[in-house]
Amino acid sequence: MEIIKTALEMKKYAGNLRSNGNSIGFVPTMGYLHEGHLSLIERAHKENDRTIVSIFVNPTQFSAQEDLSTYPRDLERDFALIKNYTDAVFVPESAEIYPQNFSTFVEVECLTDNLCGKFRPGHFRGVATVVAKLFNIVRPDRAYFGKKDYQQFRVIERMARDLNFDVKVIPCEIIREPSGLAMSSRNVYLSQQEKEDAAIIHKALVLGREMIENGTRDSASVICGIQELLKSKTSLKKIDYVSVVNPFTLQDVDSIKSDVVILVAAYFGKARLIDNIEVRSI
Ligand code: AMP
Repeated sequence: MEIIKTALEMKKYAGNLRSNGNSIGFVPTMGYLHEGHLSLIERAHKENDRTIVSIFVNPTQFSAQEDLSTYPRDLERDFALIKNYTDAVFVPESAEIYPQNFSTFVEVECLTDNLCGKFRPGHFRGVATVVAKLFNIVRPDRAYFGKKDYQQFRVIERMARDLNFDVKVIPCEIIREPSGLAMSSRNVYLSQQEKEDAAIIHKALVLGREMIENGTRDSASVICGIQELLKSKTSLKKIDYVSVVNPFTLQDVDSIKSDVVILVAAYFGKARLIDNIEVRSI
């Protein structure tokens, strides 16, 4: 596995692959990898001639109050985990991605108005900007994103279409702990008790889906049922949102008449956790 640190080197490496007729699968990450990331990388490996992974803790997607400085990092461990499925890993320094006087950002409108966009101002501007840069550097044929970050997937899908990136954005299923807790690098912030309590998020989402499958049509009742279950755990510190939205617009749905996604963002201990579940109309 090649370890590449500069954009120029990465462009050359990917350019060579392309001129030799190789398709490129790309998985952008912030590192501290777990089975969720590995599922994306293994899929990229299966569906493409070559696989490129990036590990970059992107400062522009964190606000001043957020966990940029404490975000978990362990590059050596990450390299060992991915080396069998990855041809090259791109690990730029911050100054490589954001040189002095950096002043161009990508804003995806509407899709970022609700959910995490509301609670993390500037977050998706940072995400869209760094992913646009990474797409330009790597120029992959396919890029893999986890549906755990459902809003992020929709934002990147829209950006790629709107800005004519020549890449297929591929959504991948959420990988969970046996308890149901969605895997996340931020789960290291949880104590054992908090981790056990946080498994309620998935149970609450399943309850919400069952309510809809059993005929509940008003989102308010579904949201209420989910909130009650979350509040049964003492480690729950705060709920940012429980929302029932249209999968394509990400706008709130009041009366459920077609497919929806239920999304949760909540703090357990110090960790802000997100999760979601797709519900098909019956
Ligand atoms: P991150 O390193 O958290 O920025 O995540 C990098 C990619 O891995 C994103 O596309 C995430 O959606 C995806 N990802 C993170 N956790 C999971 C998970 N539990 N299941 C599936 N994909 C995930």
